Amino acid sequence: MADKSDLLKKIIAHSKEYGFVFPSSEIYDGLSAVYDYGQNGVELKNNIKEYWWASMVQMHENIVGLDAAIFMHPTIWKASGHVDAFNDPLIDNKDSKKRYRADVLIEDYIAKVEAKIEKEVAKGKKKFEDSFDEEQFRNTNPNVLRNADKIEKLNARFKKALEDSDLVDLKKMIEDLEIACPVSGSKNWTEVRQFNLMFDTKLGSVSDDSNTIYLRPETAQGIFVNYLNVQKSGRMKVPFGIAQIGKAFRNEIVARQFIFRMREFEQMEMQFFVKPGTQMEWYEKWKQERLQWHLNMGFGEENYRFHDHLKPAHYADAATDIEYNFPMGFKELEGIHSRTDFDLKKHEEFSGKKLQYFDPEEDKSYIPYVVETSLGLDRTFLAVLSSSYTEEKLEDGSERVVLKVPPFLAPTKVAVFPLTKKDGLPEKAREIMDSLKYDFICRYEEKDTIGKRYRRQDAIGTPYCITIDQQTMEDGTVTIRDRDSMKQDRIASEKVGDIVAEKVSMRKALSNND
Ligand code: ATP
Repeated sequence: MADKSDLLKKIIAHSKEYGFVFPSSEIYDGLSAVYDYGQNGVELKNNIKEYWWASMVQMHENIVGLDAAIFMHPTIWKASGHVDAFNDPLIDNKDSKKRYRADVLIEDYIAKVEAKIEKEVAKGKKKFEDSFDEEQFRNTNPNVLRNADKIEKLNARFKKALEDSDLVDLKKMIEDLEIACPVSGSKNWTEVRQFNLMFDTKLGSVSDDSNTIYLRPETAQGIFVNYLNVQKSGRMKVPFGIAQIGKAFRNEIVARQFIFRMREFEQMEMQFFVKPGTQMEWYEKWKQERLQWHLNMGFGEENYRFHDHLKPAHYADAATDIEYNFPMGFKELEGIHSRTDFDLKKHEEFSGKKLQYFDPEEDKSYIPYVVETSLGLDRTFLAVLSSSYTEEKLEDGSERVVLKVPPFLAPTKVAVFPLTKKDGLPEKAREIMDSLKYDFICRYEEKDTIGKRYRRQDAIGTPYCITIDQQTMEDGTVTIRDRDSMKQDRIASEKVGDIVAEKVSMRKALSNND
């Protein structure tokens, strides 16, 4: 794998060169934090969606899908708390004129102190080798203890400031910690202000405040307001879930790091409706199940961790993030929230409609509690690219870039090459391709040397390349070349379909998911 510090840059360049991700409106110099997915990107994205959808809807009898509209009645966002509370604390550096999230500046500072502890532990490990007792070291080393104490105090103050929306103390923390702007290096900050992240627009032709509507900042509310429609029409019994994939929009203050933080992005969310009092059990269950879903892509357990929230959002009684080790470090990939009955209760209150579920086993009605799993599709896409991007030095001294994406996610499943453009080889190759294209996304290429064609397919992660040569015309065999091992085998052309099907099957990733 490439050095972490420039991996993101390489991924951005690779994404553009090979048709995965383009900056939006590029010929007009782009639109900040908005991106378009190219010919290979859209396939990879669709495959990630398919993996998620199959794991949720296909693999669970009690989870069904939904596709709600992006526009919703504006009162929904009043009820959900987004109009009043979907804010980020914003701060500007007066010298660089750069804008930051005040909470992120503090979090980054705390992360640096945490990194100091880890460095100290690593030093100890190296020094004491086999006799190293990590627990004892952490409990006795003065530097570790001092920094751990510092973190504890900072976290307590930070948590309180966030809970009380105390913008003055957030600013004071930034001053006390002497946090400087990474661009100007100065500590010349404005006051901290709240900034609402929802985009608004007007519905219909009359433009006054009464017809302001919002682009949804999360897909979840479409599920809440439909939960009884789905429950009744699908005769669902608690516990049951509703899954949805769709666009969400946030006017992020600081939008950078490629597709990690976008203003238009896609979420894959599942709301699981449970009996009140059982939410913690389900919360724990979904934490484990969701982590397993990520692990089944094969990117290594060490690259994932849970991060519990100090201050769960206004609607939650417990919340954690699954963080992934992105090129920029561990960051949130998915949120798992125990949302209580907050949303449904609020919608009952604001709409005046009853949103109770009648539980036939308990013989009573109640508002279910909700456990949510909320995954960013674009962040998953970035995780897949950053884990898969590999630079390899080959035995002959040459180098190749290969995207080692799990085969079930690969944009193209098999590429078909005639060795040369003559002697009927292209026709034979087309014939083989025609038999494969009903089942797989295939690509036909006849230009350039076979070596160059292999490299192009390696760069987009195609698991297999099939070459048709003179011998194919004689005995019906082809060469099949494996992306990762680069090994080539001679097989009967009729076997290609089965071999590719086995390789790209999602079955294993799904069956591990229980
Ligand atoms: P962050 O703290 O990084 O802003 P969040 O806690 O606001 O994220 P949630 O509201 O929990 O995010 O949203 C669920 C998921 O949606 C996130 O885990 C993330 O994968 C994705 N997501 C949220 N905001 C963005 C964004 N601006 N761009 C891309 N994906 C996003």
